[in-house]
Amino acid sequence: MAIYTGTVTSMVTSTGTVSRSAVVSGVVAGTVTASATVSYVETGTRSDIVTSTRTFTATMTAIIPTTVQTSVDTGTTTSTRVVSTTSSPIGGAGTTAQNNGPTAITTTSTGIVNTTSATSTATPVGNTRTQTGVRTATNTGAGTPTTSPTNTGGGSPGTSNPSSTTGSPTTPSSGTASQTASSTAISITVTPYTGPAIPRVDNPYQGAKGYVNPDWKAKADAEAGGNRISNNPTGVWLDRIAAIVGTSEAMGLQAHLDAALAQGAGYIQFVIYDLPGRDCAALASNGELGPTDLPRYKTEYIDPIALIMSDAKYINLRIINIIEIDSLPNLITNTGGQATATPMCDTMLANGNYVSGIAYALGKLHMLPNTYNYIDAAHHGWIGWDSNFGPTAELMATTARSAVGGFDTVQGFITDTANYGALVEPFITVTEATRQSKWIDFNRYVDEQSFAIAYRAKLISSGFNSNIGMLIDTSRNGWGGAARPTALSTSTDVNTMINASRIDRRIHLGNWCNQSGAGIGERPTAVGANGIHAYVWIKPPGESDGASSVIANDQGKGFDRMCDPTYTGNARNGNNMSGALPNSPLAGAWFSAQFQQLMQNAYPPL
Ligand code: BGC
Repeated sequence: MAIYTGTVTSMVTSTGTVSRSAVVSGVVAGTVTASATVSYVETGTRSDIVTSTRTFTATMTAIIPTTVQTSVDTGTTTSTRVVSTTSSPIGGAGTTAQNNGPTAITTTSTGIVNTTSATSTATPVGNTRTQTGVRTATNTGAGTPTTSPTNTGGGSPGTSNPSSTTGSPTTPSSGTASQTASSTAISITVTPYTGPAIPRVDNPYQGAKGYVNPDWKAKADAEAGGNRISNNPTGVWLDRIAAIVGTSEAMGLQAHLDAALAQGAGYIQFVIYDLPGRDCAALASNGELGPTDLPRYKTEYIDPIALIMSDAKYINLRIINIIEIDSLPNLITNTGGQATATPMCDTMLANGNYVSGIAYALGKLHMLPNTYNYIDAAHHGWIGWDSNFGPTAELMATTARSAVGGFDTVQGFITDTANYGALVEPFITVTEATRQSKWIDFNRYVDEQSFAIAYRAKLISSGFNSNIGMLIDTSRNGWGGAARPTALSTSTDVNTMINASRIDRRIHLGNWCNQSGAGIGERPTAVGANGIHAYVWIKPPGESDGASSVIANDQGKGFDRMCDPTYTGNARNGNNMSGALPNSPLAGAWFSAQFQQLMQNAYPPL
């Protein structure tokens, strides 16, 4: 047996099957695939028993944009090794080139053969990660000097990202992953935009065609008469972590963005809606994240969204993000010693996680050049009173100020999202006399348009940029149909006069769930006047506001009696009947009877 010493340099290409137990934080719902091409240079001291240290670099693509991932890989690999060795036979003189490594080398990996700790570099770049690590292997082999030996042995050569990850959608912080190192399927590849800076336009709706969500369109088209409105752009709600990759019922974020490109759309609208302790004053849209889950909101929800949106192929698409419906207003109106307060809103005010979450979302999403952030500003029937108007504007300002990028991260605000307040009350003027009616109840505003214009001015005086614009969700505030008033009542009783004149026919302004009598409102359109950017359909018509009775689900949604037509109310609706339609499904689920009513009462009529 010849004995050689010298420097070994080899290129090794390995394939094999590796099983992995992994602690995965990130998007683990569904199937995750990845591939990695691994090459590494082995250096070491060569003798018949070769002990070497391999330093490898594996660049891989995966859908899991986690922050840290630690794994231990075990398994078998088959490696083909081309050895180019410069060695000095012991006892020989000088250095001789030799191609005569052993025919077969058994590679035994000892210990933890592949422990990696990977930190996502996706801020806001693509999801290409670079992992580095050190692998130690002991090679033993017969020393017949020929070429191209085959290595068989334990240990992954460093293909250290799972190609298929299975986890529980409800407990995504841990899961079991299995890996096939030879997999070539790639689910998500993000190539971030690296071109020159692209200035944002003032109004992203102007001159641009809106994206029509195929999921919503299919449901609308399946309804009799639904094709009269199914070609309108509606909001795509990312209402849980699983919505990012998509569910059995809904396309994922990337699929929507790709479909928008295929449609030749100029803008697409997403609703960012998964705050910790979500919907703190109601139960119908409670979410999956608990009140202290801010870290998960950031890393498992906002980060992957920003990552996918950052793909260079979407650079010409205006991506509009509607940020966290109802959240900041709840901190003003439903906290403290007020009759309207709820324990969860008090918790979210005290722990600061609404403010921190929204600030994070604003900063992160604004880093992309083609995104437009609009914060939700409730509606006139919520913050139109003096006691709520100024304080919510100040809270919006405090929140934006704390975002990375500050006020520049906000392009505007939206009012009336998923609510029913009329765009314009054509017959009513707010005066000191009419404010005393039970309906107006000393509010300064009686409709959304006047409120949105005034609130925008207040926001600018609170620090926001003067070019911010307002959106108004007109998806369900038309209030047409046979019962729509056609003139100002001449009654001398202020309550009779207002009630007979108002087109908004809710029992009380505080009613919000599946309102009986409502109709489709103005079609989505860019506006451009009075600081209003557009009328939009963010709440997709036909999607329920909440279930009218308890319905089990895995989304964290509760049963709110405001969705029960027999409910007699609470402090937030002046203890009035809820006005909700009967037999409604879970929030977000298709509600055919409501869709038909909305079309029936559309104004302008269909
Ligand atoms: C629900 C969401 C849904 C959205 C749009 C909200 O009330 O909580 O799950 O996506 O409405 O319909």
